[in-house]
Amino acid sequence: MQSGVQRNWTDATAFYAERDHRTQLEVNGLHRYVSMPVEIWVDRSLANDITIQRITLVAANLTARWSRNVRVVVPDVALAEPLQIHGDKTLASRIKREMLEADPFGNFTITHTLEFDPASIRLYVGSCKSQAFMVTANDYLVDAAGWTALGRRGTIEDTYQRSSSTAPVAALAGAIGAADLFKRAIGQGVEHWLGDVNWCMWHNVMESAVSRCGAPAYGSSVAELGELLVAGVGAVGSAFLFILSLMPIRGRITAFDRDFVDASNLNRSPLFTATDAAVSRAKSEVALDLLRRCGIEGKAVQGTWTAFGELLGRKNFDLWVSLTNEDGAWADVPFQLPPVVLHGTTTSGWGIGFGRHVPRVEDCTLCRLPRPRAEFRGPCAEGDIAPPENSQPIRASLPFLSTVSASLIAAEVLKLEFPEIISLPNAVYADFRYGLPIVLSSLLGPTSGCPGCQITNSSLWIHRRGLSRHVSLSNAKHTSREQNVTFPDRSENVGSDLRIHGD
Ligand SMILES: [Zn+2]
Repeated sequence: MQSGVQRNWTDATAFYAERDHRTQLEVNGLHRYVSMPVEIWVDRSLANDITIQRITLVAANLTARWSRNVRVVVPDVALAEPLQIHGDKTLASRIKREMLEADPFGNFTITHTLEFDPASIRLYVGSCKSQAFMVTANDYLVDAAGWTALGRRGTIEDTYQRSSSTAPVAALAGAIGAADLFKRAIGQGVEHWLGDVNWCMWHNVMESAVSRCGAPAYGSSVAELGELLVAGVGAVGSAFLFILSLMPIRGRITAFDRDFVDASNLNRSPLFTATDAAVSRAKSEVALDLLRRCGIEGKAVQGTWTAFGELLGRKNFDLWVSLTNEDGAWADVPFQLPPVVLHGTTTSGWGIGFGRHVPRVEDCTLCRLPRPRAEFRGPCAEGDIAPPENSQPIRASLPFLSTVSASLIAAEVLKLEFPEIISLPNAVYADFRYGLPIVLSSLLGPTSGCPGCQITNSSLWIHRRGLSRHVSLSNAKHTSREQNVTFPDRSENVGSDLRIHGD
């Protein structure tokens, strides 16, 4: 048992009561779904592949955040070197450590024995062709190829071409796998499970097959971050740092947050551990610890945006990942004359949002974020997990949404190396309630009359950000500024809660 855990929670009941507090307040019998046996199977012939390992780690970690009965079937393989930052040497040992750190009371089995429980719901990582005879119609499979995170239901009939991928794409695939397990466990109807997913993270559209969009391969062996500010180490911010830590990185990160880890944070963040919650560690300190393991320089700042926003605004950051909206911080951000700003959100339902704001050529957080007003009410990553026919709605934390949003931010950090990013969508929304029918993406330019957009055109902005790493993007001329909203197939299934262009 981890230090502090036993002292804080005498038994599993006490731990779960605190972790799942909000759901227990509202729902009788909620715990029916948490004991459903879950299996995660790792492709035996691909288990050495770092992408497969990253997907597995994310899927297993997130699933341990809500499920108490998980069996991971994984061959005994060495952990890829970039994933050894915590000292684990095998894939199995890292999976096990992270699951038990998330939930020290969980019934977690990590095994290489090829036996499955027919009563389990099952996720496969990789094509699992050598085990195809075991795959049943309800099973789901996730993988990643280039910029595409993919999912398939049941026996694989189409063959997809694997190609080297990145940590953010693998993280999205892992979160999608965790989402499907969750949807099946809570008894959603088959029609609302995930279907075929080919989420191209370069264009952020849902394709009908693994994307052949001609996106450039990411060739860097080390991701160069420059001076990065992560403002907010909550559910999305901690998932973002976790994803960054799955790849070699270089640069300096300042992690800013005012809060301390508590048990209710444990069912959404892949980073926070039960020990962190037991001793109420500052979130920014947990972040700093991770950055040390990554071998990069980090700084923790603990406090409110009101107290530190102005000061941080004067620092020479190359990129802001802006995840805190305390006291309406997003409305204030443009007036700090920021460099490129990325943000990610989870909605009060099953949705996620992502935004990029390149000063002078794109809209700002002041004019963007008031638009989808419904996106920003209530606690993050909460959703109605009751089957539709249940008249008593269940409010619960959805453990995969923050990581989905964070994976989009992390992918964008890698994409910032490419000048053509400026013609790619800068506003992305997706909703998991009814399967994952679409990814909505658009490219938004400055809003006329918006004081936030206007101020970045001042000489003051050049004075402050003229030497920042991505300044050339601000000098780029968009070839196309019209809204480019994509509605692929199955859009008729979109629920009424997906109101993203509502006002
Ligand atoms: Zn604006």
